[in-house]
Amino acid sequence: MRKISIFGATGSIGQNTIDLIDRDPASYDVVALTGGGNIEKLAEDARRLNADVAVTAYEDRLDDLRTALAGSGVKVAAGQNALTDAAARPADWVMSAIVGAAGLEPGLEVLRQGGTLALANKETLVCAGALVLETAKANNARLLPVDSEHSAVFQALVGEDMSAVERIIITASGGAFRDWPLNKLAHATVEQASSHPNWDMGQRITIDSASMFNKALELIETKEFFGVSPDQIEVLVHPESIVHALVGFQDGAVMAHMGAPDMRHAIGYALHWPDRKGLPVERLNLGKLGQLRFSEPDEARYPALRLARAVMERGGLSGAVFNAAKERALDRFVARDIGFLQMAEIVEAVLDRFEAAGGLIDAPLTLDNVLQTDHLARTWVDDIVIQRAG
Ligand code: NAD
Ligand code: MG
Repeated sequence: MRKISIFGATGSIGQNTIDLIDRDPASYDVVALTGGGNIEKLAEDARRLNADVAVTAYEDRLDDLRTALAGSGVKVAAGQNALTDAAARPADWVMSAIVGAAGLEPGLEVLRQGGTLALANKETLVCAGALVLETAKANNARLLPVDSEHSAVFQALVGEDMSAVERIIITASGGAFRDWPLNKLAHATVEQASSHPNWDMGQRITIDSASMFNKALELIETKEFFGVSPDQIEVLVHPESIVHALVGFQDGAVMAHMGAPDMRHAIGYALHWPDRKGLPVERLNLGKLGQLRFSEPDEARYPALRLARAVMERGGLSGAVFNAAKERALDRFVARDIGFLQMAEIVEAVLDRFEAAGGLIDAPLTLDNVLQTDHLARTWVDDIVIQRAG
């Protein structure tokens, strides 16, 4: 039996992971499951899978979790430190599927323990790429990609030498607004941004897909994960979401990875790696599909991509600034304090303000500096929202 833990078990990726575990429960010994406010779901899964411990991120929900798991034998805990403690529990495989920078610290702890971290949480590499990779290396830990594009690249690279790689192309569906005229985007509502044409995901990443901030984060994630330079990474809009990524080699060959848009593929690949095992995903029927379309993204429509390129060139703590400003701008959009297009404007303003402040971005990439930068960037988003309203 393999010992596994799932961080962010109640979310979209967490539930897809549990779906795979539920199909073969005899193979897995569940150590920790974590969630946020959905105590009922967390308790139900922890009880069924007989987890050692269930953790809610919210301290004020500890009593509810305790009540929900009474008599089950599952230990309960709450809060940030409890998440890190759960990450320190020995496990053979850990899913990192918390949304946002909140996933960074538990993930780092798993790496410090020398564990295998299946990384759905792209923010981990965006905020603290070099720190995360160094921690993994120093502790002989392993990172496996779960983001579909990065899993696709990882699979296209099996048996290949990185020195033969010329470029990496990640695809983007274009999100909810890909066919909207530009002048309508300013008035896009939270509800409109929260529906995705191809993928069923958490609300935050769905909105990030509409704004292309998701692809922006993935550009940075690609640079960090595969150690390529920014000019080796391209984005292609591909409305069908069948080709997830392509790798171009120095002989001109291009290896594409295809599959139905179902995250259980990338999750299952990381779960069974280095083997491939049967997965309950739809099989492709390209004949029926008829055509696959590709086009270059329009930067006027998607300023997030331009900002990500600047962040990749800038390095240092600019990834932490970018991600935190994006997260806070998204909070303010969801709260209906700002419009859809203002998210990118405000993230750019925060990046500029950090640059003008001098030196901050060039502080060493330590966990403390990442957390402080993250906090400051969120505060500055709020300042700018107030200034603009006033
Ligand atoms: P989600 O919103 O559905 O779930 C998020 C999970 O994190 C939940 O369990 C929630 O309780 C927990 N959580 C939220 N805030 C927290 C906090 N502050 N501290 C601790 N836990 C917290 O999100 P998702 O769509 O499953 O995405 C999870 C991660 O995977 C994100 O980083 C996302 O970018 C990435 N990802 C998701 C998909 C997808 O298909 N959903 C695809 C690729 C990558
Ligand atoms: Mg992705």
